Amino acid sequence: MTEKLSFFQKVNTDFDKAAQFTDYPPGLLEQIKICNSSCHFTFPLKRDDGTIATLHGWRAEHSHHKLPTKGGIRYSTLVDEDEIMALAALMTYKCAIVDVPFGGAKGGIQLDRSQYSESELERITRRYTYELIQKNYIGPGVDVPAPDFGTSETEMAWIFDTYITMAPDKLNAIACVTGKPIEQNGILGRKEATGRGVVYGLEEACSIAEDMKSLGLTPGLQGKTVVVQGFGNVGYHAAKFLMESEACVIGIIEIDGAIHNPKGLDVEKVAAHRAETGSICSYPDAEHLENPNAGLELACDILVPAALENQITAENAPRIQTTLIAEAANGPTTPAADRILQERGIMVIPDTYLNAGGVTVSYFEWLRNLSHVQLGRLGKRFEDSTQHALLHAVEKATGYQFSDDERQLIHGADEEDLVNSGLQDTMIRAYHELRETRMQHKNKNDTVNCRTAAFINAIHRIAQSYMQLGIFP
Ligand code: NAD
Repeated sequence: MTEKLSFFQKVNTDFDKAAQFTDYPPGLLEQIKICNSSCHFTFPLKRDDGTIATLHGWRAEHSHHKLPTKGGIRYSTLVDEDEIMALAALMTYKCAIVDVPFGGAKGGIQLDRSQYSESELERITRRYTYELIQKNYIGPGVDVPAPDFGTSETEMAWIFDTYITMAPDKLNAIACVTGKPIEQNGILGRKEATGRGVVYGLEEACSIAEDMKSLGLTPGLQGKTVVVQGFGNVGYHAAKFLMESEACVIGIIEIDGAIHNPKGLDVEKVAAHRAETGSICSYPDAEHLENPNAGLELACDILVPAALENQITAENAPRIQTTLIAEAANGPTTPAADRILQERGIMVIPDTYLNAGGVTVSYFEWLRNLSHVQLGRLGKRFEDSTQHALLHAVEKATGYQFSDDERQLIHGADEEDLVNSGLQDTMIRAYHELRETRMQHKNKNDTVNCRTAAFINAIHRIAQSYMQLGIFP
């Protein structure tokens, strides 16, 4: 029955399930759940051929309990107000789960980007930004966009340039958007952050022997077979880092078909093949599945949906042949599918936790932009010389001479090291908080799965913020 619900209603179904396990007043729970504000606007585009197209854009700010609000911008034909509100709500809960001090937001334009030229996309993005400025839906302390499905650092650079041209406060204007190119005040590691965070989260989940045993799996990622749906920013990076962690990526699903090789696919070679031919489907070293949906039903240890919402439904959940679902995309599993998967003993690591790497590193980028200093700049040289002095002392005391290769390993942390260690620490900490909540309820209530535990943690953290604001005694 819940399959007929809209995306936002589905997110609220998950929220309501978790809210039962808290004792906050209904009014406060309603305030946390509701979307604080959203706006829809239309604007004209003069196309390259001289015709006029009308475009629809949205931005929703789900929660102002922390400011600024934060969330990506999506370009897709499926974008509508409900989708944007649902995604904004997921951002609120995600930020709370990983303790990143933002409210949730999301924006989008309803379009198929393959139908527009580069210069049309630039004009669309700049006009969309102008609309956000006019409506006070963007600013370093107000609402800070980032990339999402169908957008990348290129669009973020156009947003940044449009905003800074018009901003009264030029000093902090660089923090108006994250996911910018490195040379335009971006941060090293942001592009890879969501996929990398997915792998840090999976590594942590798979390291707990007791949990793996109950799933019939051995601990660790090594040798686990993986199928990834969506080979864009998140899916490609998740697959790449999984391969580097010695997991075996046996299937990749794209919009036009899937590829399968039970012995493993070389992720970089698949990416190179797509760059050359425009599709993964003709990749030579694999079996080709014409129907991409069939790819979701391939037998594997870990299934990573990294494309869009509503991919695992009550219809296909009974046929999914995996042990663990790692939700890299937002909202890939419907509540009805979630129940079926739980009954079947399939563990789902939820989107609200697992894909939070992007917003975590966006937070680091925002901090770097506001502080106007590259992370690690103050301490790197000092750390370098301290560690080399230590090496020297060990050499003197033991008579052992370190080789050049060994010396290379010793260096002060640079920006990328700090970003990745901050991200890893965030993912590990949040996973244990989530697991602890799940364990607390385990004996009392079997329906508290990882998703519900993550929502419970989010509700507690947001309620605390309202307490600090004096809204809730
Ligand atoms: P993207 O546009 O870079 O890539 C999406 C990929 O999915 C594309 O290659 C597209 O062809 C493919 N795709 C679309 N429909 C498909 C289908 N039905 N089956 C298989 N493949 C399909 O987008 P992205 O940034 O990688 O985002 C993917 C998901 O991750 C979205 O749900 C997004 O909200 C979520 N997410 C993204 C970020 C981020 O930092 N980019 C952060 C958190 C969550």
